[in-house]
Amino acid sequence: MADTTTLKPTRAEDEFFAREDAEKRRKIALAAKQETALAEQERLRALHHMRCPKCGLELQEVAFRGVDADLCFACGGVFLDRGEIDRIARPDQKGIMEGLLGLLR
Ligand SMILES: [Zn+2]
Repeated sequence: MADTTTLKPTRAEDEFFAREDAEKRRKIALAAKQETALAEQERLRALHHMRCPKCGLELQEVAFRGVDADLCFACGGVFLDRGEIDRIARPDQKGIMEGLLGLLR
């Protein structure tokens, strides 16, 4: 009989736990957002708007093959809105991410 403690999780199990973890994090973030006063949210938004979350320098908005990406030319960060990620994930949009990364080299 196989020792079940040494079996590797399947890809489906990995994805299930990743989705479950993402949902927990989303709920925690939503609760934190609701607890933060509106004025504080506005202060933070103004302070961080178009600033790289990794290094703090200014992000540059770059339009590339129909995708608007926020790039940090200081540290190489690439930041995309959800809709932009959905777009580059489409099979007919292959090469967009490589092209964006090429702008940072
Ligand atoms: Zn940066």
